[in-house]
Amino acid sequence: MTASVLVIEDELGIRDFLERGLSDYGYAVETAPDGPSGASKALTGDYDLVVLDLMLPGRSGLSVLDDLHRNRPALPIILLTALGETENRIAGLDAGATDYMVKPFSVAELAARIRAHLRTATSTTTTIRAADVELDLLDRRVTRAGQLMHLSATEFSLLAYFVKNAGHVLTREQLLKAVWNYDHDPGTNAVEVYIGYLRRKLRIGDRELPLVTIRSVGYRFDDVAPE
Ligand code: CA
Repeated sequence: MTASVLVIEDELGIRDFLERGLSDYGYAVETAPDGPSGASKALTGDYDLVVLDLMLPGRSGLSVLDDLHRNRPALPIILLTALGETENRIAGLDAGATDYMVKPFSVAELAARIRAHLRTATSTTTTIRAADVELDLLDRRVTRAGQLMHLSATEFSLLAYFVKNAGHVLTREQLLKAVWNYDHDPGTNAVEVYIGYLRRKLRIGDRELPLVTIRSVGYRFDDVAPE
């Protein structure tokens, strides 16, 4: 089955480059040149993934992202960002983007990310659990001790990776690779920041998340329900 990708990008050169490039990788590609038409296509069409530029005319990429994430929470979205747009990039990840690419990048690199995210999105095991945390990977629902929790897409991916590897120490590098698809450490503090989000959002009263910091090594999610 051919996966379909919507590319929302205003620069004609990049739009054509991605349309041709991703078609060569076997994707059915559609495009939109601005925020309003991109949002309406993404919300009404049947796409498996959206590639979204942040700087768009008519409506900002962040606003489109917010809309898509609220109305289509399971739709993976890869942001295209320019060098230096760090704040927008972090805002984008927090608003539910699955991943981002910094321009300039190669089609091969983008295609690899798309493949990885589609694999996650269509995984057949739907429910995983460790300690008192349960995730439905298909509906992207998280409960802790039976209570429904609200996480962004990146927080969800990070938690899912911990739960799948419960009891094992995971290094920063492993987390950067699994969740952000980095092959090398770009010097970001995304891991620390997102671990902080998970601990804060999944705390129930004084019951902490069983996510332990292993000093100068990494983190471990313990498969034991805290008292
Ligand atoms: Ca642009």
